[in-house]
Amino acid sequence: MRIKSKIVMVLVIFILGIGVMSVLHFLNKGDSSISGQSPNENKPLESQPEVILSEYLFTTDYLNLRSGPGTNFEKIRTLPVGVKVEVLGYDNGWYKISYNGQEGYSIGDYLSDRLDDNDFEEIDEEVIEDGETGEVFKRINGILLVNKDYSLPYDYYPGENEEAREHLDKMINTAKEEINKDIIAFSGFRSYNYQKRLYESSIQTEGLQYTELYSAKPGHSEHQTGLAFDLGGEMKYWLEEEFGETIEGMWLRENAHRFGYILRYPKGKEYITGFGYEPWHFRYVGVDHSIVIYEGELTLEEYLLGGE
Ligand SMILES: [Zn+2]
Repeated sequence: MRIKSKIVMVLVIFILGIGVMSVLHFLNKGDSSISGQSPNENKPLESQPEVILSEYLFTTDYLNLRSGPGTNFEKIRTLPVGVKVEVLGYDNGWYKISYNGQEGYSIGDYLSDRLDDNDFEEIDEEVIEDGETGEVFKRINGILLVNKDYSLPYDYYPGENEEAREHLDKMINTAKEEINKDIIAFSGFRSYNYQKRLYESSIQTEGLQYTELYSAKPGHSEHQTGLAFDLGGEMKYWLEEEFGETIEGMWLRENAHRFGYILRYPKGKEYITGFGYEPWHFRYVGVDHSIVIYEGELTLEEYLLGGE
């Protein structure tokens, strides 16, 4: 987790320590007890061992932003996990930071200089390569990445994910309460073979160009994960871009993250996701992740693989 940043810090302290010691030696003060117990509590190297020398840091947990450097100061807001904050200063274990134009103080224990470190646990990357087809099955921190580069084996058949369904039902019920509209999940889990039939028939009816932009090759469909759903409101806008401008489509775009879902193929990110804008296709990733992805306006590719 923080091992890497600790190593960096130890190195920084070590190098600074050597620097200070050589200066002292040069000045012939002769007191090399600086690396031992120091009586001077204000000496920066001793009293601020956790300071990370970085212009930006990332939150590694939900973190309070306060009006001053201490828990006795008023809480301004809670920062989400994994967001980038600008560092403005450091005060005895507390960083003065800025996030989305809001300034305040947060305790350094949950700030890290690496985005990789934020994900609650160690980065756990599982890559399985299919020896026959050479296709790659990739899972990062437990999140399956399925796109044009990464696929699922033909025998990966998990069915509909229960947790995803539970959150989907909660989302549909909340939409009914908040906008009084019925949202329908008209497509969920698809097997490899079903996707194969869809893809082949789409080439027949829509042509190759359209199919490549809106339909996935077998093994490359997120629907095979059991975590993706195509949603609609009134039937006439199903699978159409206009759905994004309906009340249901707009509500989903702005609220799905509250239920652990992300709009998987946003407008303007086609060059990253490899797919056209699909205001109807939502992918379950869990609330911790969906909030960061939504607030950062990221795609799953950017979130998992990095890149600015
Ligand atoms: Zn879909």
